[in-house]
Amino acid sequence: MAASETTDTTAVPGSGRHRVVVIGSGFGGLFGTKALRRSDVDVTMVAKTTHHLFQPLLYQVATGILSEGEIAPPTREVLAGQKNAQVLLGEVTAIDLEARTVTSQVLGRELVTPYDSLIVAAGAGQSYFGNDHFAEFAPGMKSIDDALELRGRIFGAFEMAEIGAKRGDNVDHLLTFVVVGAGPTGVEMAGQIAELAHRTLTRDFRAISSKQARVILVDAAPQVLPPFGQKLGGWAHKELEEMGVEVKVGAMVTGVDERGLTVKYKDGTEENIAAVTKVWAAGVQASPLGKTLSEQTGAPLDRAGRIAVNPDLTLPGHPEVFVVGDMIALDNLPGVAQVAIQGAKYAAKEIDGRLKGKAPQAPFKYFDKGSMAIVSRFRAVAMVGKLRLTGFIAWLMWLAVHLFYITGFKNRVTAVLHWFVSFIGKGRSERTSTEQQIFARVALQRLQRGATDLVSNPGEYDAEAERRRRAELEAQAAEEARLSDANERGVKV
Ligand SMILES: Cc1cc2nc3c(=O)[nH]c(=O)nc-3n(C[C@H](O)[C@H](O)[C@H](O)COP(=O)(O)OP(=O)(O)OC[C@H]3O[C@@H](n4cnc5c(N)ncnc54)[C@H](O)[C@@H]3O)c2cc1C
Repeated sequence: MAASETTDTTAVPGSGRHRVVVIGSGFGGLFGTKALRRSDVDVTMVAKTTHHLFQPLLYQVATGILSEGEIAPPTREVLAGQKNAQVLLGEVTAIDLEARTVTSQVLGRELVTPYDSLIVAAGAGQSYFGNDHFAEFAPGMKSIDDALELRGRIFGAFEMAEIGAKRGDNVDHLLTFVVVGAGPTGVEMAGQIAELAHRTLTRDFRAISSKQARVILVDAAPQVLPPFGQKLGGWAHKELEEMGVEVKVGAMVTGVDERGLTVKYKDGTEENIAAVTKVWAAGVQASPLGKTLSEQTGAPLDRAGRIAVNPDLTLPGHPEVFVVGDMIALDNLPGVAQVAIQGAKYAAKEIDGRLKGKAPQAPFKYFDKGSMAIVSRFRAVAMVGKLRLTGFIAWLMWLAVHLFYITGFKNRVTAVLHWFVSFIGKGRSERTSTEQQIFARVALQRLQRGATDLVSNPGEYDAEAERRRRAELEAQAAEEARLSDANERGVKV
C-alpha cells in the first residue's frame, strides 16, 4: 500500500493565494506555468518526469546528433526563478473533480494535491492500434527513454552485423532498419538512419560496409507526410528515395517480432521483412487521464482518446478545469506544440483574468504559425499559410525555429555545435549507449509494478532502527581503528 498524504501546495506557505495545479511539464504544462509567473497565484506543476521534453528533436537524440540534456532541461531549473511555482515529481493516477484534488504517485509514494484551478496538459502516448505487443520489438518515439533505447538499438545493430560478418553469417536482417509511420517523425528518423549509414559510419567498420544497410519506411496511408499535402509529400518521397530509403506506402503492418515484421498491401499481398531494428512512429493515443475526466463529466472521447472540451478549453460543468494540447478534441486542431503552448497561455490568462474580475475571453482560437519537417541535412519541407517551401530555404527556417524554441541559452549553444559536427562534418557527437538503455524497458515491463517493484516500501521512519544501526557502525569503526593502532590487523589470534 502506498503511503498517502495531502501536500501543502502553496509555493509560499500561508499565502492563502489561489492554488493552480498544472499536470504535465511538456509544452502545455511548462508554458502554462510560465504564463502565470506574474499572477497572484501559487502554481504546483505535477509531472511524471523531472524534465521538460522538446519532442520534435527526439529523433536527433536517437540518431546520435544531440544529447538528451539539450532537449530535456530539468523543469526545476527552468522554473527556479519563478517564485510562485513549485514542481512535484509524480504520475497523476486520479483527478477528483468534486473534491478538487489530484492524486499522484512516484515509487510507491502517493500525494494528494488540492487545487482551485487545474490545467491538464498530460499529452499523448504512442498508439499501436490495439497491437500493444508490437511495442516489445518496435519502440516508439515519445520519451528520452525511447530515444536512448533506439540509439542503442540502431548503433548496436551495426556492431552485431560486424561480428556476424566476421563469423561468416548472413547479416542482412541486422542491417535492415524499418521505420513504421511516414509522418514527420518517421520521415525524419528514416532520413537520419540513411545518413548514418551512407555518411557517418562509412569508415568505422572492417567486416561490413555501413552502406549495405537498407532503410525502409512503411505506412498504411497512400502517401508520405499526409498533413503536408500531396505536393510536399511527393517531394519528400522523392528525396527519401534519392537518399536510398525504400518507401512503401499502402503497406499496413500486421505483425512484428524480434526477427522482423509483416506488411500487407492493399491488393492483399503480404511481405515479410527481416529486420532486427524497428521504430514505431505511427499513431498517438491521448493520456488515459482523458478517460477519467470523461467519466466524471460526460464529455465524449474520440478514437484517439482525446476529450471534447468547451470552446474556452474548460470541461463541461467545470469552469475551473482546463485541458490543453494533445489531449483535446476541438475544431480538428492538430497535435502540435503550438496548439499546446497557445492553449496553455489562454488558460493561464483566463485564470488570471478571473482573479482580477475581468470578463471572460473570447473562445480559444489557434493561430497556425506553420509546420515543417526535415528530410535530411539541408533539405526540409515547410508550410506557412499558403506558402509551400522545399529544400534549403525550408531547412534554414526549420533551423531558426528549432533554435528559438529549444529551452535555455546553454542548450542552444551546444545544439548549434552538435549540428555543426553533423551537418557540416560527418560526425555524430552523441553515439554513446549502454546495455541498460537497450534492455531496461522490456525488463521493467516484466516486473509487475515496474520500477516500484525494485524499491522497498517507504514505510514509517524507524528512529530506533537507525539508532541501533548507527551504534553498530560506530562499534565496527572503533574496532577497526583499535586493530590498526595495536598493529593487530591481519594477525591471526
Ligand atoms: C517525436 C515527435 C516529434 C514531434 N515533432 C513535432 C514538430 O516538429 N512540431 C510540432 O509542432 N509538434 C511536434 N510534435 C508534437 C508535439 O510535441 C506535441 O503536440 C506537444 O508536445 C503537445 O504538448 P502537450 O503539452 O499536450 O503534451 P506533451 O508535450 O507530450 O507533455 C505531456 C506532459 O505530461 C506528462 N504526463 C503525462 N501523463 C502524466 C501523468 N499521468 N501524470 C503526470 N504527468 C504526466 C508528460 O511527462 C509530459 O511532461 C512531435 C511529437 C513527437 C512525439
